[in-house]
Amino acid sequence: MNRNTIELKIFGLIVGMATAVILLAAGLLITAVRQADLRERLYEQTLVANGLRQRAKEVQTALNPYVIWDEAIHKLDNDFDLQWASQNVGASIGGALGYNAVFVLDANDQPIYGHLNGTDVSPQAYAAYAAQTRSLIDEIRTIEKDPARVAALRAVHKGRVELIGNEPVMITVSLVRPDLAARTRTDRAPLIISGVPVAKSVVKAFSDRFLLKDARIEIVPADALKSQDAQIQMGRAPDGRGIVLRWSPRRPGAELLRQASPWLALAVLAAGFGALLLFRVTRRAAKKLLLSEAEAKHLALHDPLTGLANRTLFTDRLVHAHALLRRKPGYLGVLCVDLDRFKEVNDSYGHDAGDTVIREVARRLTAICRETDTICRLGGDEFAIIQPDTSPQGCAALAQRVVEGLSGDLDLGVGRAELSCSVGVAVVSDAGHGQAEMLRQADVALYRAKESGRGRYCFFEPEMDAALRLRKGLERDLRDALERDRLTVAYQPLTDAKGVVVGVEALARWHDPERGDIAPAIFIPLAESTGLISEIGRAVFRQACRDSLRWPGLEVSVNVSALQLSAPGFVGEVEAILLETGASASTFVLEITETVLLKDSETVRDTLRDIKQLGFQLALDDFGAGYASLAYLRRHPIDKLKIDRSFVASLTPGEKTSVAGAIIGLAKSLGLKTTAEGVETQDQFETLARLGCGEFQGFLLGRPMPASAIAAACEARALASVDAITVKRVRRKIGS
Ligand code: C2E
Ligand code: MG
Ligand code: MG
Repeated sequence: MNRNTIELKIFGLIVGMATAVILLAAGLLITAVRQADLRERLYEQTLVANGLRQRAKEVQTALNPYVIWDEAIHKLDNDFDLQWASQNVGASIGGALGYNAVFVLDANDQPIYGHLNGTDVSPQAYAAYAAQTRSLIDEIRTIEKDPARVAALRAVHKGRVELIGNEPVMITVSLVRPDLAARTRTDRAPLIISGVPVAKSVVKAFSDRFLLKDARIEIVPADALKSQDAQIQMGRAPDGRGIVLRWSPRRPGAELLRQASPWLALAVLAAGFGALLLFRVTRRAAKKLLLSEAEAKHLALHDPLTGLANRTLFTDRLVHAHALLRRKPGYLGVLCVDLDRFKEVNDSYGHDAGDTVIREVARRLTAICRETDTICRLGGDEFAIIQPDTSPQGCAALAQRVVEGLSGDLDLGVGRAELSCSVGVAVVSDAGHGQAEMLRQADVALYRAKESGRGRYCFFEPEMDAALRLRKGLERDLRDALERDRLTVAYQPLTDAKGVVVGVEALARWHDPERGDIAPAIFIPLAESTGLISEIGRAVFRQACRDSLRWPGLEVSVNVSALQLSAPGFVGEVEAILLETGASASTFVLEITETVLLKDSETVRDTLRDIKQLGFQLALDDFGAGYASLAYLRRHPIDKLKIDRSFVASLTPGEKTSVAGAIIGLAKSLGLKTTAEGVETQDQFETLARLGCGEFQGFLLGRPMPASAIAAACEARALASVDAITVKRVRRKIGS
């Protein structure tokens, strides 16, 4: 999920939540407002309804003196008196009480007197009221039938607002009753019907009394009677329409809402602002989370020291590049890069310096490669590059750039390191082989590059596999030979200038029953790269110790590999072998190579010092072939320089200046002995002798031979050399 999607999701979530909260709050508020308004309306309605009822009662109470009256029974029922009716009913109720309409009905509910708007009218005018009063009359007559009820009620009235014409009129039907003893003719008494318009003044009185706003009487259709408006039904028109008192109710909720609305708006704004803030905070947190996730991902796929891809990412990219090759024809290259002698940097200057070298190499590789290439640190000083969409020439060019780019001096602060690297290249044009096979091929090619002298690149070739197999087989056989003690030691004589043997050099020999003789030039480097060298060294030294006891007067030289020397416990082992065999350290010259001195580490210095203390002499083998400087010679306790064969081979008779001569001069000035190696001709021998060389070794003076042949060889050399005294001396020396 990318950042935008996550941001969008967070934004959506927060907006959704904020909207939901606002909607919920708004819903609650509206409900509360409505409830408050509804309660207020119902309260007002109850008040108004009670008021109306009260008003009706008051009206009826005012009528009581006229309808509970013996005389009224006499004059309206027993013996109807129109004039009495006019004076006591019409003038009193119509005049004093203010009723607009007053009618008297006889026991048969027939109008017998009428009074409208202050004037007596024909009873027939009652027709306009007949329909509207019918039900009220029926109710009264029903009550009348029950004397007990009538007695309990005292005054019997029924009233309602009815529509007369278009005017709402409060109609009251009252039963005329005796107050003392008068009796009606029949069991039905006359009725007085009074009507007063529900005048505006009535409405106003209500408005004032109950603080109703906008109160008015309205005639409304039947279905409006159920409406939620503030209204009280006062009566009903014959056609079903309702006569209602309506008003605009107080709305405390809405009022409160109106007053609170600025605050509510502020609250909504604050909520919006809060949501925005929350969004920003959450987004920042999410960003951090994404970053740490990205960091974790990066760590899982990259080398922490260099930031380059690690093996996992490399494999993934290689698989991908391989898959692409199937779709798009072309070449895919894989380069394995290995630093030459990186271990020496680590050993000499420490791991921090090693890390600096690795980081520098990563930086240079990044500068050399293209963006589309994948550079990876496979581990230690091993790097690999995937070069997609390339050609064999492209691979070669990149390999060359890498070899050149990773060579030269590097200042580490604590010292300088000579940087160089070897590169193995595998290039394929089809995805036939797996990616693992490609990496293996590049690795095999790298091995070949290292074998061929380092600081170069090699392309994988199928026969390398065969060579590798051969090497593996050789390695197996060498282990086997070591286990079975099949390695032997040959000795090559070293003579003085007179040709007299003064010492021998012990040289390891391996004769395989199937392979025949295998040269040290082959199995010694193999033993060095496989870690078998220490074991070989021990075996040769042990044998040389035993054999040295046979030639008390001869110096015995033994080769010690640099790896052997820097292995911990070397001095102890040597000491133990001396003890075991009874040989003397002073008989031995340990031949070390210049690479040992080049390391110049504390351990090497300590080891050389300890060796010297044991009584060994030290010779620098193949001197001149490496890079050891004068300073190195001064710093270390070297006794002898062995002039490399190449300088002997290049000697020409009579030549005044030669490297060999220079070395001899140097050795003299430092007080060191010299041995010339590879002396094959008499000329070389004589020239070297003239130059002042002390000792000589070479086919001319004797080839490497079994220990048993040394005595004879010594004798033969002595005889061949000078005189009988020497012969005698030699014989005495070798005890023959
Ligand atoms: P090295 O120590 O310089 O030994 C001398 C090499 O020169 C020997 O080769 C010897 O046979 C060869 N040699 C002597 N005289 C002549 C000559 O006149 N002409 C020519 N062309 N070569 C001559 P070898 O025995 O094949 O040993 C080769 C190298 O293998 C040795 O060089 C030494 O560095 C290494 N080596 C041999 N044995 C051992 C061993 O036991 N331990 C270690 N660490 N290295 C060994
Ligand atoms: Mg040697
Ligand atoms: Mg040598």
